[in-house]
Amino acid sequence: MDPIIRLENVSFSYKINEKTKVSVLKNISLSIFPGEYVAIIGHNGSGKSTLSKLLNGILTPDHGEVWVHGHNTKDTNKKRAIRQAVGMVFQHPDNQIVATIVEEDVAFGLENIGVPREEMKKRVDEALNVVKMSPFRHRPPHHLSGGQKQRVAIAGVLAMQPECIVFDEATSMLDSFGRKEVIQVMRQMNNMGMTIITVTHHMSEAAEAGRIIVVEDGEIVMDGTPREIFKHKQELEALKLEVPSVSQMAEVIHRQFADFSRDIIHEHEFI
Ligand code: ADP
Repeated sequence: MDPIIRLENVSFSYKINEKTKVSVLKNISLSIFPGEYVAIIGHNGSGKSTLSKLLNGILTPDHGEVWVHGHNTKDTNKKRAIRQAVGMVFQHPDNQIVATIVEEDVAFGLENIGVPREEMKKRVDEALNVVKMSPFRHRPPHHLSGGQKQRVAIAGVLAMQPECIVFDEATSMLDSFGRKEVIQVMRQMNNMGMTIITVTHHMSEAAEAGRIIVVEDGEIVMDGTPREIFKHKQELEALKLEVPSVSQMAEVIHRQFADFSRDIIHEHEFI
């Protein structure tokens, strides 16, 4: 299977001024495959957010290449196709919400690319349904909770029908209820076949994914399933990353099982 996103020996530095550069990512190679649910974890300043912005060409590498479906992110003619394939959800929902009514906000990106009215309505309905925000469609977004606003922002990205969504610390401004709501939406979208990449510093959130990539000082230091990663308790603690407790893991497994059962029931049209 071909990867959706491939990073080949990627290095990146921020230019502070004419003379000074801060090297942030060093020689990263990585492939993300269709249908994966990947968590990128590391403590503050490790380079996670910079890495996530390289995944759809918001930033481009100084050295090495990033390919999205075989398109190089440095190719300016392919920017639109790349952004369409890989959507991004950021930390602050307020910065992503542009319209005064929920459904108009979800339609905003579609209007920009000239999607016909009927198709637009269909996509907005579907996206609001996935994030369970249909009852709020006529409300002003600023009356919503943080988790609800983030779900509206996700619906806006979802309506563009990307193959992959990157969540850059998308739950870090939310309370625990809002976080759970957003994590549930990520899981549901992954169950629908969408590739999910979540950047987080919460290990319990990373445990939801099928693959965890640990970033430290701009390098990938671990890459494996949660089970493989959590075996390295001492190394993780040295990186100031806590292995989730047994009760947190039990909660994750319980939720995954509940979702799985619900999907099976829907599939067989028992309800
Ligand atoms: P993380 O998401 O893991 O917290 P970031 O990718 O945000 O890490 O940051 C990695 C490093 O890059 C940090 O040292 C940070 O200070 C630096 N950095 C991030 N953004 C910029 C920027 N726009 N200009 C200069 N340095 C930056």
